[in-house]
Amino acid sequence: MEIKVLFDSLALDKRFITGWGVSFLVDGRILFDTGENGNWLMENMMNLNVDIDEIKAVVISHDHFDHTGGLWELLKKKEGFVVYGCPDFSREFKVKVKRLKGNFKEIAKPREIAKDIFVTAQIPGEYAGKFMPEQALAIKTNNGISALTGCAHPGIIKILQEIKKILPKDNFYLVSGGFHLMEKERRVCELTVEGFKELGIKFAAPTHCTGKEAEEIFRKKYKENFIGVKVGQILKV
Ligand SMILES: [Zn+2]
Ligand SMILES: [Zn+2]
Repeated sequence: MEIKVLFDSLALDKRFITGWGVSFLVDGRILFDTGENGNWLMENMMNLNVDIDEIKAVVISHDHFDHTGGLWELLKKKEGFVVYGCPDFSREFKVKVKRLKGNFKEIAKPREIAKDIFVTAQIPGEYAGKFMPEQALAIKTNNGISALTGCAHPGIIKILQEIKKILPKDNFYLVSGGFHLMEKERRVCELTVEGFKELGIKFAAPTHCTGKEAEEIFRKKYKENFIGVKVGQILKV
């Protein structure tokens, strides 16, 4: 399967708009997060020949603007769009989706939302002292499990352990997204990379709120299996 990077802070070339947040398109049919701005996301989609009508649903990892920001423009373009969120997303979020005629669906427990594409259901996390539930995406292919995360506020290792419970027989392949290590001490970053190795993750593609220092640690440890994420890139899983 292919994962297209639609939004992030770096790009393959100047045609693409960059900003804060992430957005990935899995196999042309499932969108994961929407970056911080709808017009920018649309522009990138156009340049990447993404057909909105082919997208079956959007999965929102958590209720932060850099992951939900592009959603509103998308809902204006496609009425009745299925939006998978966590039960504990804010009321404000759910009302806004409804107002824009989106079809909000809560993921109460881990679920295969499309063939070989799974959502973890909400994992409790915290951000700035506040409760912040978050869900992640798992993709099953012949190579193994690949995972996408938004900010990983519950902790990236915790998220990966939850994914392993859903697909206990499969090995990990690639993990990408925000790992939220940017305010963490170096030791915590190192332990996280060790955790990745213990979980048998073959390719690491950290981005967004992972932080430059943690990304460097991943790069050193993963060498040629480290992937720097950029808008316009296609991750083959
Ligand atoms: Zn974020
Ligand atoms: Zn966040």
